[in-house]
Amino acid sequence: MTIAFLGLGNMGGPMAANLVKAGHDVIGFDVSPQARATAAQQGVTAVDRIPDAVSTADTIITMLPNGAIVRGCYEELLPFVQTGALLIDSSTISVDDARALHTLAAERGLEQIDAPVSGGVKGATAGTLAFMIGGTDEAVGAARSVLDPMAGKIIHCGGSGAGQAAKLCNNMLLAVQQIAVAEAFTLAEKLGLQDQALYDVITGATGNCWAIESNCPVPGPAPASPANNDFAPGFAAALMNKDLGLAMDAVVSTGARAPLGEHAAQIYRVFSDRFPNLDFSAVINTLR
Ligand code: NAD
Repeated sequence: MTIAFLGLGNMGGPMAANLVKAGHDVIGFDVSPQARATAAQQGVTAVDRIPDAVSTADTIITMLPNGAIVRGCYEELLPFVQTGALLIDSSTISVDDARALHTLAAERGLEQIDAPVSGGVKGATAGTLAFMIGGTDEAVGAARSVLDPMAGKIIHCGGSGAGQAAKLCNNMLLAVQQIAVAEAFTLAEKLGLQDQALYDVITGATGNCWAIESNCPVPGPAPASPANNDFAPGFAAALMNKDLGLAMDAVVSTGARAPLGEHAAQIYRVFSDRFPNLDFSAVINTLR
């Protein structure tokens, strides 16, 4: 299969490399010459114009920083896409932007799905990303074999925009949990409780969650957590802040109530301004 891959950054670079390893012809485009050069070393055919990337492709994948950029790329690429090609957007963008992309593609008779991911650069490199997908049964069926070499898990969440909806709900919950876990450890410290004891109790009890079990914000109990490595990410605070911004836009536009999500978004807005490149679990330092 010939796959066009637009956006060869921290995530897109290794994702495209896994498609090459699976035997696909991957034609890559990125505005950054450095990203194109790195991808070329992984076997991607790097081109410096969008039409050259997409005009022979069966599938076009975008992995770009935000919704405005993805929309701009769609406007540029759609006139050159061949009939029957499938469009997959894996960027994290708003539900409204995801639906707008779907409409743009449908106006040209093309199938399009939103397929945001979780798993970070580690998952992108290992080919174990979790894909959350919104789109028709036919489009998702066609996408599965393309996504497989990059995926640990593929979940069809519903129609257009459902993948982005699932992603932002998950990340809002994660933000609240990471702050709550930090509060538990700082209270325990004040009460003279050992970190390991609290970890052992919570991970075997009803408060357990990924934010403590794998992303424990104190060094020691979970040796692979960013706290053991000066909070090198992991999942950078700036990315969590971006995702919470999308979640808060959705809260406002739908009229949903999310007081804890709103508070978490406010905490991460301030934290990310100061420490954008630390793992988001470093928020514990603001409580001490
Ligand atoms: P990144 O900044 O490393 O990569 C984005 C790439 O897009 C860059 O190489 C940039 O040069 C390129 N780009 C920008 N404008 C472009 C354009 N008009 N045409 C072509 N290329 C263009 O970002 P990333 O970490 O790879 O994230 C990509 C997307 O994945 C984002 O939406 C992010 O929120 C999401 N995401 C990231 C992670 C993570 O851990 N990094 C995890 C899950 C989801």
